[in-house]
Amino acid sequence: MPTALTGIFLLVAICMSVAIPSQAIAQETASTVLPSPFDTAVSEARSNMMASPPDALAAAERAAGIAAEFPEGHDRNTALATASWLQSEALTRLGRPAEAGPVARTALEQLGEDPEATKLYADILLSLGRTEKLLGRHGDALEIYQQAYGVYQEIGETRSESIVLQSIGSIYNDARQFERAAEYFLDATERFQDPSLDLAAFNNLGNAYTELRQYDEALTYYNRALAIAAEMNAAMLEARILNNIASLQVAHGEYNAADMSLDAAFARAGDPSGAEWARFMWGVRAQAAHGRGEEVRARNFMERTFEGVPLDQTNQHFTEFHGTAVEIFIALEDWESALAHLQAFKRLEDEGREFAASANAALVGAQFDFAEQEIQIQELRAAGLENALQLARTQARQRQFVAAGIAALFVLLLLVAWLRVRVARERQRALEQALYTDSATGLPTRSALIRQLREKEKSSDTVLTVVAIELDRHTHLEGVLGFKNFAELQAAIARRLSEEGDYDDVALVSPGLFALYVESDDEHRLRDEAELIRNYFTQPIRLDNLDIDVAMTIGMASDEDPETGLKNAIIAIQQARAAHTSLAGFDAVAYGDPSENLTTMSRMLAAMENGDMALHYQPKLNLRKGQYLAAESLCRWTDPERGFIPPDTFIPQAEETGHIRAFTEWALNEVVEARIALKKAGHDIDLAVNISGALVADIGFARKALDIVERAPGGIVFEVTETAMMHDAERALENFDRWADAGVKIGIDDYGSGFSSLAYLKRLPSSELKLDRMFITNIAGSERDRTLVKSTIDLAHNLGLQITAEGVETEEALALLKLLGCDWAQGYLMTKALPLDDFSAFLDWSHTVGEREIGPARTRPLREIPQGRR
Ligand code: C2E
Ligand code: CA
Ligand code: CA
Repeated sequence: MPTALTGIFLLVAICMSVAIPSQAIAQETASTVLPSPFDTAVSEARSNMMASPPDALAAAERAAGIAAEFPEGHDRNTALATASWLQSEALTRLGRPAEAGPVARTALEQLGEDPEATKLYADILLSLGRTEKLLGRHGDALEIYQQAYGVYQEIGETRSESIVLQSIGSIYNDARQFERAAEYFLDATERFQDPSLDLAAFNNLGNAYTELRQYDEALTYYNRALAIAAEMNAAMLEARILNNIASLQVAHGEYNAADMSLDAAFARAGDPSGAEWARFMWGVRAQAAHGRGEEVRARNFMERTFEGVPLDQTNQHFTEFHGTAVEIFIALEDWESALAHLQAFKRLEDEGREFAASANAALVGAQFDFAEQEIQIQELRAAGLENALQLARTQARQRQFVAAGIAALFVLLLLVAWLRVRVARERQRALEQALYTDSATGLPTRSALIRQLREKEKSSDTVLTVVAIELDRHTHLEGVLGFKNFAELQAAIARRLSEEGDYDDVALVSPGLFALYVESDDEHRLRDEAELIRNYFTQPIRLDNLDIDVAMTIGMASDEDPETGLKNAIIAIQQARAAHTSLAGFDAVAYGDPSENLTTMSRMLAAMENGDMALHYQPKLNLRKGQYLAAESLCRWTDPERGFIPPDTFIPQAEETGHIRAFTEWALNEVVEARIALKKAGHDIDLAVNISGALVADIGFARKALDIVERAPGGIVFEVTETAMMHDAERALENFDRWADAGVKIGIDDYGSGFSSLAYLKRLPSSELKLDRMFITNIAGSERDRTLVKSTIDLAHNLGLQITAEGVETEEALALLKLLGCDWAQGYLMTKALPLDDFSAFLDWSHTVGEREIGPARTRPLREIPQGRR
């Protein structure tokens, strides 16, 4: 129930923060003698902040009015700033961050150009950071939090430092990096012990562990929070924590326990009617009832959650409740309500992904070593790169944007993958519902047809024939008619088919392509049927007052497998078009072997035997020693008929078809031979092999690989991508340990291009991190990329890993990487991957030049070897 919890999490966090600023005011105002109406208004705003934000807001506005009458001067400014800040806090509490932000900024302005380091100043920053965060501007929020942190440190406000730590933790929370979030929350409790802060932190820890699916930890922290709330006699907070506990229990299938927690929560909260947060309690109640299969009760509870709220305007806190509502309404066969909730659910999940992506981009970008960055830039300047830097400055904004976009994109992809898993498990039924109807036309989709065919197949012995009907020139028609009219046209075509032809399920497979089935495979009957279908369209279709002439091309195929039947029927349409007719049955012979995969794979296997496939070697420059001390093997396949086939095209196929194992064993053998040959030639260097993620959890392969590697005279590296670990992490880790024990080094490939989980990195017995080339390409031009690279280098070094930069193409990039402390560089600047002989010659040459002279420009004399030719 993650999102519901997040909602409650926010409530607690905000009320904590309000408690603190009140002390600030006391400090700020104690030293100055101000007229008492102002003091009264301020203390009224403060005391109402938690219980009644509207009253707090009114009082703060009154305070602002009084302050405006003060004589010009320092006191007036401080008073105005205090009043504005309180207004902004109240607005945030009222769920109006978009208004709160500008008011907080006004407060800052009222403090003057260069404010002194006071608590008021830092408190305003903290409020502003929070509004930015709520508005999804995580980058700004993080920067402002850091500023606030700096001020608090300067004035020795440890308690407030702890609050900032919690706030930063909550950004990690938004980024769905719950482990890091938990670290920050724990840090916060250690930084300063204080019941109300601890209460927020423990509750947040409970939430983080709930998300991490660590039930015991979550419960322990919730209970600690609960104990504090009880001691403080804060019934409302107790109720909310109890609600969190109930939510945790629901997530673990303990529905009766959840009900008991909720009973307790309702008891503590007193009469919850009208209270905004009571919706969440009803929502969890509904989830518990739904979990027990009591759908009618569940619906009644759920109705209270959404009472008076337009479904298309709900916020993030409702996401999970929408999800449950979909399931409840499906169970009750109330399709309309189910669909409305499904739409809301999807809208919120999209928003949620964007929100998390923004938070992640901010976290990836904002590192805490800006000062160090400045030093680097000074050094660079000295190195004579002013021009490049100048350029970089002017383009910085734009590029930052791109970098943030890329980072966001990766997170998005990850989240999509993650969501798929979740959706598959928890919401399959609900989403299927949407899957089976085309949203624009209301027609059954391809999936619906396939499902229908499957069912039919089971219940009858007759062979089914799929009839695919394509509207001629439909792309053109769509362009002329526009999306909406075209949708209507399609609906009208389907209608005519079902009315005239009495077919009940006419599916829309893709734009302009319809399909239905006939219970027969008798050729004559089918031909007649198809003729009839064509005749239905001799009359134009009327749309509004427009008569549209339509023509159809028809393809038919019978197959036991509905998917194949449909696919072949569509191919038959192409065959009809190729034969300049408007009707054809699928001709398997003319189509030939449809499995391109199979031929590619058998060709690949042959290429490994006959020498069309070879491994090339791209050297890696050790930046500390200025020598080529390692290389990566990359496969090069030149097919006599198809020419050069890039690894990116056939490796994925090999992974899908399972041929990757034979291929990789072949590559390993090659590398071991190369390792032996190079050593003989006097080059005792590490050679890396790319190990597909599909293999890292394969125990058979793990053993075989060890057998092969045993023959190598040392120095073999397995490059695996970080995503490889995501499939079967435990297995993969076992294999990695096994390999590492046998002396194989592990390198993490394409780091940064996927999901980088620190937790995994720590557990891996790896020795090298290869930074993906997208971070390197633009390193001279983008400060943001530099920051990213720098922080990754530091991270790698902290974990005891060497770091390799991939895709080094320019001298500037190389210079920068050295400066940033990178250990290895690999890229076209030095050379492309070379055939073994050329590679050996390259190493010979590199020994003949002095250490300091070795460098990119000197590699140029070497013969250029085009990619893929041997
Ligand atoms: P990878 O492991 O990230 O390999 C590095 C890729 O970057 C190689 O592409 C290499 O030619 C290219 N590259 C090197 N320096 C530069 C540079 O300065 N600029 C640019 N733009 N590119 C550079 P390649 O050879 O096309 O390989 C693509 C991917 O195919 C590899 O990515 C790897 O994932 C996979 N692959 C290649 N060989 C094998 C193999 O033997 N086994 C397996 N399982 N995968 C392989
Ligand atoms: Ca690689
Ligand atoms: Ca790579």
